[in-house]
Amino acid sequence: MTDSEVSAGQTPPRRVDIVPHTHWDREWYLPYQSFRLKLVDLLDGLLPQLEADPSYAHFLLDGQMAVVEDYLQVRPQAEERLRALAATGRVAMGPWYALPDEFLVSGETLVRNLQRGRRVAARFGGAMDVGYLPDMFGHVAQMPQILRLFGYEHAVVWRGVPSAIDRSGFHWSAPDGSTVRAEYLPQGYGNGALVPDDAKALVRRISEFEEEQGELLTGPILWMNGTDHLMPQPWLGRVVAEANALDAGYELHICSLAEHVQGAPTDGLPSWTGELRSGARANLLMGVGSNRVDIKQAAAIAERSLERQAEPLSALFLPADHWPEALLDEAWLEVIRNSAHDSICACSADEVCAAVVHRFAEATQIAEGLTERALAALGATVAVDGRVPVLVNTSSRTRGGVVEMRFPGATVPDGCQLVSERPAQRVLMDATAVEVATIMVSELEYARSITAFSIDAADGTEVIHVERETAGTLVTPLVRSDLAALRTSRPGELMRIRVANRPAVTVLGHVADVPGFGWQAWTGGTTPDSVTVDELRLTNGTLSVEVNPADGTFSIDGLAGFGRLVDGGDIGDTYNWCPPLAETLVDAPLTVTTKVIEAGPVRGRLEVLRTYALPTQVEDQARVGSHTVEVRTTLELHAGDDLVRVHVELDNHGVRDHRLRVHLPLPQRATGSVAECAFATVSRGLVAEGGPTEQGLATYPSRRFVSAGGLTVAHEGLLEYELIDLDDDVTSAGTLALTLLRCTGMLSQGPMATRALPAGPLTPLEAPQSQHRVEARFALHIGGRNPYAVVDDAFLPLLVTRGGGSAATGAAQGQALSVTGAEVSAVTREAGAVQVRVFNPSAEPTTVTIDGRHGWLLDLRGRPVAAFEGHFALGPWQIATATLDDRRGP
Ligand SMILES: [Zn+2]
Repeated sequence: MTDSEVSAGQTPPRRVDIVPHTHWDREWYLPYQSFRLKLVDLLDGLLPQLEADPSYAHFLLDGQMAVVEDYLQVRPQAEERLRALAATGRVAMGPWYALPDEFLVSGETLVRNLQRGRRVAARFGGAMDVGYLPDMFGHVAQMPQILRLFGYEHAVVWRGVPSAIDRSGFHWSAPDGSTVRAEYLPQGYGNGALVPDDAKALVRRISEFEEEQGELLTGPILWMNGTDHLMPQPWLGRVVAEANALDAGYELHICSLAEHVQGAPTDGLPSWTGELRSGARANLLMGVGSNRVDIKQAAAIAERSLERQAEPLSALFLPADHWPEALLDEAWLEVIRNSAHDSICACSADEVCAAVVHRFAEATQIAEGLTERALAALGATVAVDGRVPVLVNTSSRTRGGVVEMRFPGATVPDGCQLVSERPAQRVLMDATAVEVATIMVSELEYARSITAFSIDAADGTEVIHVERETAGTLVTPLVRSDLAALRTSRPGELMRIRVANRPAVTVLGHVADVPGFGWQAWTGGTTPDSVTVDELRLTNGTLSVEVNPADGTFSIDGLAGFGRLVDGGDIGDTYNWCPPLAETLVDAPLTVTTKVIEAGPVRGRLEVLRTYALPTQVEDQARVGSHTVEVRTTLELHAGDDLVRVHVELDNHGVRDHRLRVHLPLPQRATGSVAECAFATVSRGLVAEGGPTEQGLATYPSRRFVSAGGLTVAHEGLLEYELIDLDDDVTSAGTLALTLLRCTGMLSQGPMATRALPAGPLTPLEAPQSQHRVEARFALHIGGRNPYAVVDDAFLPLLVTRGGGSAATGAAQGQALSVTGAEVSAVTREAGAVQVRVFNPSAEPTTVTIDGRHGWLLDLRGRPVAAFEGHFALGPWQIATATLDDRRGP
């Protein structure tokens, strides 16, 4: 027998790639600072271990640079050591800055997260070349395209993989056809979490895993040696050497994830196109979309303020060298930190969620401040009187709408609707001379609109009259002493204070056709049909809304039943909804009253006040108690508008363990829904795939809108919807249920009907019960207009600045940038040049026209791909980034 005959008769040892790592949720059931202390311990131990023990060949720093920056903040002296370890391939860093949730944040947030991670990793020689997605609660359809645009050919995924995938590797495609090889982690990122200090035991575990997974495992076995916040096992290198010496049919390698995926087989793998949202093999945890709605609303506002206002306005209306890079960077850092899966999902300790809310607030404050400054800069160039409002459109589409403006004087301009007025003369108050003296000194000086005041005695004689000085002072030292004298001479006597103001009116006006990324000075209102309102009806010539006084629901153009509130019990947790066994649904109000809030002609508002008797909590699988809750629903119609704006407000004090949804009837029965997700819309059916540990629920997320059966629902942070009212054979749905509130009291429950295993620690929490005032905003559109235009009309209002006066030379109307043919996701500046990111959310190819501009198309790493001149082609579902040169259009 020859040697070759021997080897032909034996099975070669199977390769096992051991990737040591830790999964580091920056904040979760403990706050950031508590986990950070442990992170410092981990890296303090790991760095000398790696330096001293070459057999501990590699460590993966969880694919996110936050762990590195968080550590270096307290151990800055370690930067050089980390750089040296990275240079020799002993540690892998990035590519993410924080491991995000993909469904609950915007596409831009995902892109900025990866860009930031790569930028920080560049300091250490570069990021890991793998799209590592270990713990995300499902994956968006466009992720393969995003990864490919960053130059990645590999993804690593766990949750969301459907039962149809029967191998540990598959070809995963975005709707545009971009494909990555996805490594599927059949037992998650912790299948090899704790390596025992015993070679035989290690081999036994690997063999058990191999046997359990069987045919599913293709190619070398991936042994992910780490899990949530797990410390490294220092004996790893020695035990692996001992295991190899056993000659037990395995060839163990400690290696990087990149090395594993590059050696993994690509032939004969199954394929999948689109999003991964199955609970077949791992919990998807789909209830996070409706947990802590306040956090999702804050995310929607922060992302919109940054992406759709602060950035485009600063890029287009400030000189290139005034681009507020550092401030925007700080705002984005807050948003990116919040995009971490446990942060935006709010399946976290109450202190964590408080920090998340604060970060979103700070990001929004920066964005709003920058928006104001860029608007002022634009206004200063417009050659119209400084009292004339200048309307600004931050979307790419030419569009009109209703704007709130302030005019000097007491006259309401033609066609406008008065909101409030500041009269020229008014009685401020009646008070004694002592009080008058105090008030004058402390208050009036700072009310800049007050030009004069008088103090009259009870008999009407004027005692003091003061005009504001040209220099601005009203209460001069002289006036102060007059007031002091009055206080002493007539202390108890009643006086009347009258003030004079520059009169002004705040009004609503309708404007037509402000250019996209452009401005237009107010030249008087356009006059679409007026809005008329009575106690039960709003109409504007386009739409008619009528309230049913019996239950407070409303009809739109005769289609009845909108706005039915349905409240049920929830004994689930921050991750999953779970109704009590003895469910009580409350859907009928005790009382209904309506009131006209605004009567038109530009904006009409009708308030529907309903009271409900809601159970107070769940005990022993049943809803118990009763608490009367007042729900205020405001229906709003604008002149010239084709959507109904709805605002719901209630005080949730005293009602716990429940889910409140609003039911919206569909004009036609629907076989599925089309919802916005990152850089695309996604079509979904009526059911969802579940698995042995999680019931499949068709409660899906939409980012800003969802359409079904002829209805489009645009919303601000109300991410969870479900198509209900299904027919018997589950082929069509008649109603869309939008979740307004989901309140539970546990971070994770133990076993429950909708999920067999806990998803985190069984920690009681108070904040997810949302014991406070709750507001929700959404808008309804029937008629099939582009939902991206609908959501902008509903939630991205035209902004108002003021003209620059006689010194200004700019045109009264203009456009800084014209982009047509695709949705615009971002307008920013990079190295001085304006950058525009667009995407084509359709199955048809398109031509993107950027009027009068030329430049380069870039990938998401910023590498040039092709030059363009005025326009370029964009295939179905494609994303493109263009950098523009300085040459302005005509
Ligand atoms: Zn995690």
